[in-house]
Amino acid sequence: MAALASQRCLNHSAREAIARCLECGSFFCRECITEHDERVICASCLKKVAHAAAKPVRRRLNAWPVLQGTGGLMIACFVFYTIGRMLLALPDSVHDGSLWEMDYSDTSAEEESP
Ligand SMILES: [Zn+2]
Ligand SMILES: [Zn+2]
Repeated sequence: MAALASQRCLNHSAREAIARCLECGSFFCRECITEHDERVICASCLKKVAHAAAKPVRRRLNAWPVLQGTGGLMIACFVFYTIGRMLLALPDSVHDGSLWEMDYSDTSAEEESP
């Protein structure tokens, strides 16, 4: 590491370099060098690395699926509640059996068609 002692910081020509950036290979002083993931890199490379690392994570938080899910759940609750109220409001004549047989044949026909 004799070469390192003769090197000067890339940003501060008056200062001696204490480390070499593993990313760009330039020499930097204590002030300019930093450690990232146990690797010694310079500040500009750290910015690059941090930017590259943060890019995929830094997506705009999309709240629409949550809102749509919540809204859909509320709509489903409302629909089922309404259907429940309608079923409760049905007259007793519905329970003579004929309506349910008709419904059953309808659904079975739909299942066989595709
Ligand atoms: Zn660098
Ligand atoms: Zn420096």
